[in-house]
Amino acid sequence: MKAGRQQVMHCPCGNAKVLALSLCATCYTLKRQDGEYFGGLRETVLARDGYRCRVCDASGRDKRSITVHHRVPGRSVLNLMLSLCPACHARVHRTKAVLSAMPPLLLSLWREQHPRGHEQTLLDFQAKEKLPRDVSLFRLEDE
Ligand SMILES: [Zn+2]
Ligand SMILES: [Zn+2]
Ligand SMILES: [Zn+2]
Repeated sequence: MKAGRQQVMHCPCGNAKVLALSLCATCYTLKRQDGEYFGGLRETVLARDGYRCRVCDASGRDKRSITVHHRVPGRSVLNLMLSLCPACHARVHRTKAVLSAMPPLLLSLWREQHPRGHEQTLLDFQAKEKLPRDVSLFRLEDE
């Protein structure tokens, strides 16, 4: 009988390489970032949104494929954060946007991030009214 190999501690995500706090490097970084950048609310936001992109409904079966976006940079408030897939998140932050190809919610988010965005596009960019900063996104969608 061979002696059993030393039991390896796995990270909850399945990664066998544990860095600290019994988490792998990726999960450890995410946990640290959660505290630093999301006020510890990252998981709450993801759970609220069902681990899906709020714009295109892509699901993050691997939770890490869904990003939490700050509507107001640096303000970690539940109402001001929402889950986006990497593609939609990239579009929100991209300076130039093909506005016509954007779903309404994505367009609203893009306008928030780029208040002067109309100066960079020839497309009709009549921002009717400013999005209230603290409006719940759930209500926003009903409009
Ligand atoms: Zn991990
Ligand atoms: Zn998406
Ligand atoms: Zn963002």
